[in-house]
Amino acid sequence: MGTATSADATLIVGNCQAGVQLASTLRELGDTAPIILVGEEPHLPYQRPALSKAFLKGEATAASLTFRTPEWFVRENIELVTGEQITDISRDADGGTAVGAGGRVFPFARLALTTGATPRRLALPGADLAGVCYLRDADQAASLHRSLGSAGSVAVIGGGFIGLEVATAARAAGKQVTIIEAAPRLVGRAVGETTSDFYLQAHRRRGTTVLLNAGIVRIAGENGRVTGVELAGGTTVPADVVVIGVGVLPRTELAERLGLEVSNGVVVDSRAVASDGVTVAAGDCANTPNPFTADYGNGNLRLESVQNAVEQAKTAARSLLGLEADYRTVPWFWSDQGDLTLQIAGLSAGHDSTVLRGDPESEKFAVLYYREGRIIAADCVNTPRDFMAVRNALTRGLNIPPEAAADLGRTLKESAVPRVPA
Ligand SMILES: Cc1cc2nc3c(=O)[nH]c(=O)nc-3n(C[C@H](O)[C@H](O)[C@H](O)COP(=O)(O)OP(=O)(O)OC[C@H]3O[C@@H](n4cnc5c(N)ncnc54)[C@H](O)[C@@H]3O)c2cc1C
Repeated sequence: MGTATSADATLIVGNCQAGVQLASTLRELGDTAPIILVGEEPHLPYQRPALSKAFLKGEATAASLTFRTPEWFVRENIELVTGEQITDISRDADGGTAVGAGGRVFPFARLALTTGATPRRLALPGADLAGVCYLRDADQAASLHRSLGSAGSVAVIGGGFIGLEVATAARAAGKQVTIIEAAPRLVGRAVGETTSDFYLQAHRRRGTTVLLNAGIVRIAGENGRVTGVELAGGTTVPADVVVIGVGVLPRTELAERLGLEVSNGVVVDSRAVASDGVTVAAGDCANTPNPFTADYGNGNLRLESVQNAVEQAKTAARSLLGLEADYRTVPWFWSDQGDLTLQIAGLSAGHDSTVLRGDPESEKFAVLYYREGRIIAADCVNTPRDFMAVRNALTRGLNIPPEAAADLGRTLKESAVPRVPA
């Protein structure tokens, strides 16, 4: 029989980026009710982005990635529960009860779901061979790091950000690396063609083999261990380690148990409140209206980024306390691939024109995206000032007219002007 905890508590399920932020914001806003922050991973909450960057290169340890010390949680009167998966949950308007896999019972008055996402699995023959890895959590990162140590060749299935970051770390460690992408270009979901093409050339320049439009038949192995990836057409890419990075799926099991609306994540409104009107959700698990999308008002969007997890968690905390809340910060994202830092401001989906600022050959440039003459986003490679200028312009509702944007003689900050009303 488990321990019963306080029925006036706020229960936050998922104790990573969004969960820790939500708990911390509740305290900053003066909330004194008990907070229980539960997560299934056995570790102190930690920063995931470094797992595919500094951690894989051996430049960071799991301990160096934690958000907060154990003492901080004690000081803030936040009960941190690790290694406990919530498997059952029920609630009404006044509160409810969650149950952990270990049998512990968590009564709550208020509930937040910050359950994140899980890697999409590939149902390929051979996908369960030793040496086939996914990368979402610290244990997977540690296991991949160990496997890379003795590997000569690495195949990365999926040319998204995580795939490219893993490929960068493996290449920097002297491995023979092949990226296998099913689509006609890299990072196609997140950036436009110019940026995709730049990354294709940049990885090839650094000695990585990149295969586009590549179909996979199976992952080949011997004696239970991976030996390569067999492609449609018959060739096999040799590999001692295969890393699969083909996107993630939102963790919505608990939301479904609660009967909440779920569609590519827990559907929430601009206050981060789910369809029952009382539960909040934030981060990778939540599907939210975003005023920066082309079709704002016609559909929700699920973002997978630190910025989104942090800002939406702050909104969710305000909603739990009955304060005014409206999630409308400019989305931004970064990806570090060795000496290439990409920063993205805004959302480029729905653009009708672009302006290239600088020369991709120099590995320092920005692509600015426009809709009806208004700037909506930018991909900035090794150009942090351009990123800041675009982010500020979007935040302040300014425009950077396309005719001014390509002029390297002027900063983008200088070119920002008030928008002409539509
Ligand atoms: C390798 C990697 C690199 C990344 N790089 C970048 C980057 O460069 N820039 C960027 O902006 N973003 C990056 N991201 C994305 C970013 O880390 C995520 O957007 C962010 O972590 C989302 O936070 P979250 O709290 O919503 O979800 P998560 O971080 O996934 O945390 C959710 C937690 O909830 C737990 N949980 C789920 N269900 C239950 C349950 N039933 N009971 C108990 N616990 C549960 C999970 O185990 C997990 O610990 C990266 C992600 C990865 C994996």
